[in-house]
Amino acid sequence: MLQIKNLEAGYGKVQVLHGISMEVPKGKVVTLIGSNGAGKTTTMRAISGMIKASSGEITLSGKRIDGLESYTIAKLGLAHSPEGRRVFATMTVTDNLILGAFPRLTGSRPKGDVAGDLDRALELFPRLKERRTQLAGTLSGGEQQMLAMARAVMLNPDIVLLDEPSMGLAPILVEEVFRIIEDLKSRGVTMLLVEQFAAAALKVADYGYVLENGRISVHGPATQLRDDPAVKAAYLGGG
Ligand code: ATP
Repeated sequence: MLQIKNLEAGYGKVQVLHGISMEVPKGKVVTLIGSNGAGKTTTMRAISGMIKASSGEITLSGKRIDGLESYTIAKLGLAHSPEGRRVFATMTVTDNLILGAFPRLTGSRPKGDVAGDLDRALELFPRLKERRTQLAGTLSGGEQQMLAMARAVMLNPDIVLLDEPSMGLAPILVEEVFRIIEDLKSRGVTMLLVEQFAAAALKVADYGYVLENGRISVHGPATQLRDDPAVKAAYLGGG
C-alpha cells in the first residue's frame, strides 16, 4: 500500500530524516515510535506532501507520490489527521466533515455515498454527533482532535496517517480514540499511527518502527517490539 525508501526531509537547511525506509501493507496498522523530536511528525508531513522530501521515494499503491501536492495525494486516497487541532473553527462540525470528503469528489476514485459516510462517521464518534451543529472552534480541544480524525475518515481513504490522535485528551477520551482505531482496523482501514502511548499503539498495531534522531533503529512485528528489552526501557515505561 505505502512504501517509503530512503526518505530524507527537513526544514530549510535542517535535515530531520536521514534516509528512512518503511512499509505499510494494505489492511495493516503500523506504528511509528520515537522520542520527542525524533521526526515522527516530519515523516507524516513528508508522506502527505505537507513538506517536500529532499530525497528518497514514496509510493502509494505503486504510484510515486513524493513531489505531488498534498491535495493531489488526498485525491489518491491518503488522509492525514495532523497533530493539533487543524479544524475549520468558523464552520460547523458537519461542514468540517463534509469538507473531509471533498478531495474524493474531485478525484478519479469512486465518489461513494458522502451522506451515508457522514452518518457512519457520526455513529463512530458519538461526541461529534451530539455537537454536529456546533461551530468547530467552540469544541473542546479533545473534541477538535476527534473532529480532525473523523474528517480524515470522511475521505474514505485507502490509508490514514494518524498523528497523536490522543494528544491532550482526558483518559476516557484516550480510550475512546483507541476504540475507534480498533474499529477502523476491523473495517480493514490501513493506518500509520504515531502515538505518545507507545504501549497502547503497539497493542493495536501489527508492526512497528522505532525512529531515533531521524533514523529507523529497530523494526519488527508489534508483539516482538513489545517484548524487546531496549524498546521497553526506552518507550514503554520500562514495564
Ligand atoms: P514530537 O513527539 O515532539 O512531536 P516528532 O518525533 O514528531 O516529535 P518532529 O515534529 O518531526 O518530531 O520534529 C523533528 C525535528 O524537526 C525537531 O528537531 C523539530 O524541532 C524540527 N521541526 C519540526 N517542525 C519544524 C518546522 N516547521 N521548522 C523547523 N524545524 C522543525
